[in-house]
Amino acid sequence: MACGLDPALSSPRSTGIDVFHQPASLPHSTPSFSFWTARARHSDLIGHAQPFSHEADCVIISSGMSRCLAAYFMLLAQPDLPHGIVMLEAREAINAATACNGGHCRPDCYRGYLPYKKIVGAFQASKVIREPRVLLNCLREYPGHQKRDGHIDCDFWRGRSFDAMMTDECKVAYRNSYDEFENHVVRVYFVDLMPYPQATRLLRVEAAASFPAGSFYPYKFTAHLLRRAMSMGLNLQIHTPATAVASVDGFWMIDTPRGSIRTRKVLHATNGYASAILPEFTGKIVPFYGVCSSVTPTKSYSGKKMLAHTMSLYQQRGVRDRTPTEGLNSDCVHKNRIPADGTIIVGGGEFVNRQAHINNCDDSKVMPAITEHLRNVMKDNFDGWGDEAHGEGLERVWAGISGYTGDGLSYIGAFPGKEGQFVCAGFHGHGMARIATCARGVAMLMLGRAWEETELPECFQITKERLERKVRL
Ligand SMILES: Cc1cc2nc3c(=O)[nH]c(=O)nc-3n(C[C@H](O)[C@H](O)[C@H](O)COP(=O)(O)OP(=O)(O)OC[C@H]3O[C@@H](n4cnc5c(N)ncnc54)[C@H](O)[C@@H]3O)c2cc1C
Repeated sequence: MACGLDPALSSPRSTGIDVFHQPASLPHSTPSFSFWTARARHSDLIGHAQPFSHEADCVIISSGMSRCLAAYFMLLAQPDLPHGIVMLEAREAINAATACNGGHCRPDCYRGYLPYKKIVGAFQASKVIREPRVLLNCLREYPGHQKRDGHIDCDFWRGRSFDAMMTDECKVAYRNSYDEFENHVVRVYFVDLMPYPQATRLLRVEAAASFPAGSFYPYKFTAHLLRRAMSMGLNLQIHTPATAVASVDGFWMIDTPRGSIRTRKVLHATNGYASAILPEFTGKIVPFYGVCSSVTPTKSYSGKKMLAHTMSLYQQRGVRDRTPTEGLNSDCVHKNRIPADGTIIVGGGEFVNRQAHINNCDDSKVMPAITEHLRNVMKDNFDGWGDEAHGEGLERVWAGISGYTGDGLSYIGAFPGKEGQFVCAGFHGHGMARIATCARGVAMLMLGRAWEETELPECFQITKERLERKVRL
């Protein structure tokens, strides 16, 4: 279903930088190493080798969270495919955004309503801004969790998160979005607006909102799914990038350095790297460089004094001001309860050089200025953080690549004009909260079910209209 789109509008997190047309590269061969991977890298997934298959019923390109979930859902529905499902991964398994993110599962439950409404209209915007408990339940109770597969050891935590509005401009914009959502769509009973936000423990903050959120260990969650899918017959090929997809005699031929695979169905789940082999996504799903860090808290933020919520600090909403505004951008500070040792995951620092983040696929390096920024986030912003003893404070810093889209909406479903090719990508830095429903949806579509059955917003569909739109970030 097409939506009445404004071609000039940009996403809820945009500061209005035009994106130049440059396809993504294939994933860098030596990505930086995250806190999550360092603590949980699974040896059986690292040295893993299965026979290379030249024929498959379906080829899934990538081994991030979305394809592992999609593979799992497909194998549950169709366990007896004659040629099976092959998963091609350019690197070792689970070694891109899924392995290096903040672990923060933070549905947007009011904030983006107004900007999305301007782009796709009120009805679609309200489908994107879903009731947060739906998403959290879907993740927690994904098929198999507890009932079929037993408990997944991924430190799933469910609680509340703060939007900390650091400027008056941000406070007004978020309040407007909240009011509009509440007045025209639904009573936003799950969001608490806090005019006196001392509970955030921030030194300077204009206002805050709290809402249901969660966090989990993304590497462990995805590794569990991947192993489960492999036990059901998934053929995983690591260090095997797909380099081209071409139509030959009614089949899709996928080239890799180890040979070609013939199939009728392909799932592109390559997120920020999508345009490397699907050039139509050049400038539409844009690789966006991001940085996260792990921080060992001081005594005043440990034990019973641990931060009780996750949070994001917002300096500016972005979409209201479409001129690039150096120094005014969102900084995400994430208090993580994963693992339960109290480590705080802090990400952000885009404003340091936002232009250099766009179209940047090099996650092998961390920009030194961002490391310095992250080193000081806790002591500069949190009340009574105190002096850091040797070993407290910044522990590890790493980079990763997200897939940003011009409208902030994901690209899900059949690719127009390429029958048999499907996409599940463009999570715009929100994959943890979106992937569970999107991966289930794309698996349903690949199994021949109708879009309506997926319950996903229609504005996630891939249309020529969306692909022609000018993109700003
Ligand atoms: C620093 C950072 C922090 C983030 N923090 C959060 C957060 O706190 N909360 C949140 O919701 N989201 C966060 N995100 C976004 C989130 O991580 C992503 O939305 C999510 O992990 C995307 O998962 P994915 O499976 O789509 O992609 P990825 O995990 O990026 O997987 C893509 C995979 O495709 C492979 N690949 C690419 N091209 C090819 C090819 N041609 N052939 C074979 N394989 C290929 C890659 O090697 C990779 O394994 C963050 C992202 C970053 C970078």
